[in-house]
Amino acid sequence: MSGLRPGRILVSEAELQTRVHELGRAIARDCAAEAPILVGVLQGAFLFMADLIRAIPIDLTTDFIGLSSYGSGRQQSSGQVRLVSDLSMPIEGRQVLIVEDIVDTGLTLAYLKRNLESRRPERVRVCVLVDKIERRQVELDLDYVGFTIPNVFVVGYGLDYGGLYRNLPYIAELEGASVPRRVSGP
Ligand code: 5GP
Repeated sequence: MSGLRPGRILVSEAELQTRVHELGRAIARDCAAEAPILVGVLQGAFLFMADLIRAIPIDLTTDFIGLSSYGSGRQQSSGQVRLVSDLSMPIEGRQVLIVEDIVDTGLTLAYLKRNLESRRPERVRVCVLVDKIERRQVELDLDYVGFTIPNVFVVGYGLDYGGLYRNLPYIAELEGASVPRRVSGP
């Protein structure tokens, strides 16, 4: 196990709860016409998803999809996204809301949006808890963003490092982590 540990808290437990409730109200306003299906991206988004759905006071359904782009214990994307577990039901004609923990280069979400759009849903929206916008490599429309943070590697509230620290109730910087500038190339 590496010596890297959670350090400075970037988003406190109270700030998370306040913002998740604001996002929930905004989503309820926009999506009330037809029960949306919220698609949580495993594993990182499971805590956010659990809190978010309780803050959306309209009819909705949930499903999960598993993607992998980071190897265990890595701090930057491999750039190659793989579907590791698929949705349990068709989304054709449905209003879909992707619920993602963090967007960095944007490669994972771009892949997921393309993949879901090919299944002919009525609409695909995206809700991201944390946006590291400085690192974006592809253009992405994000409908709901919880927090924008600088280019640091973070853990907690579902986000892991080598499988650890998902259970922290806040988001913290990983202490001693190197800060990746690009996914590939010099
Ligand atoms: P992207 O494809 O946008 O570069 O990366 C998205 C995925 O990378 C996220 O779903 C998440 O799993 C992982 N990721 C990106 N930045 C961080 C970070 O700061 N901390 C953690 N724990 N995972 C991250």
